[in-house]
Amino acid sequence: MKIITIPENMYAWSMQQKAEGKSIGLVPTMGYFHEGHLSLMRKADELCDVAIVSLFVNPTQFGPNEDLDRYPRDFERDVELSKKQGVKVLFAPQADAMYAKGCSTEVHVSGLTENLCGAHRPGHFTGVATVVTKLINMVQPDVTIFGEKDFQQLAVIRRFAQDLNLPTKIMGHSIVRESDGLAMSSRNVNLDPANRAAALSLSQGLHLARQAVQQGERNVISLAGDVQQHILSQQGTAIDYVSFVHCDTLKDVETVDDNTVLALAVKIDDKVRLIDNGFLIEKDN
Ligand code: AMP
Repeated sequence: MKIITIPENMYAWSMQQKAEGKSIGLVPTMGYFHEGHLSLMRKADELCDVAIVSLFVNPTQFGPNEDLDRYPRDFERDVELSKKQGVKVLFAPQADAMYAKGCSTEVHVSGLTENLCGAHRPGHFTGVATVVTKLINMVQPDVTIFGEKDFQQLAVIRRFAQDLNLPTKIMGHSIVRESDGLAMSSRNVNLDPANRAAALSLSQGLHLARQAVQQGERNVISLAGDVQQHILSQQGTAIDYVSFVHCDTLKDVETVDDNTVLALAVKIDDKVRLIDNGFLIEKDN
């Protein structure tokens, strides 16, 4: 596996691959890999001739009081893990190479960014949209793969990729969970055992809502009350949002149907912010 840090070298390497007729799959990440990241990498390797993983903890998507400094990092471990998934290039640029002096252009997506994490993390999705656009320009992937764990992020990325005619196919990958249901996240490493138990309230909240829907409940106020109560019954939890939204518009709904996604964001012990989501009625496909 090659490690590339200079954007121009990344672009040149990709163009060489394309000249040889090879297809490229990109998995953008912020590192500290877990099985969720690794399954996206295997997907890229399976779908394309060459799989490229980008590793960049993007400062512009973190707010001033967020966990940029505490975000877990272990470059050597990430190199070893990605190597084993068939990844051909780990693209790990430095912040000053990503954002050259004088950089003053951003990608802002309206509408889809107004609810959920967009409402709680001002500027976050502009940071994400800008960096993902830059990564796609640098890597020139045929396919770019993202996890459904970041449900709103995926919707926003699909939107600007279409709006800006980015020549890549955006693909989603289902959420990878621990055996007890906790959605895998790099941030889980910052949970101590008590926090870890409280963190389970997100996936349990989803399960609880699904069960109630299966028994015929469709009213969002009632479902939200049950989910909130369950989450808050765990020590150290503070809810950012428990939202029932339409899967395409991300707008709040009043009644559950098969397009409804329950999206959750919860802070544990005021230090680890976790998200989770899922459809409430299973889609037949
Ligand atoms: P991150 O490094 O957290 O920015 O994540 C990089 C990519 O991995 C994003 O597309 C995430 O949605 C995806 N991802 C993170 N956690 C999971 C998970 N548990 N299951 C599936 N995809 C994930």
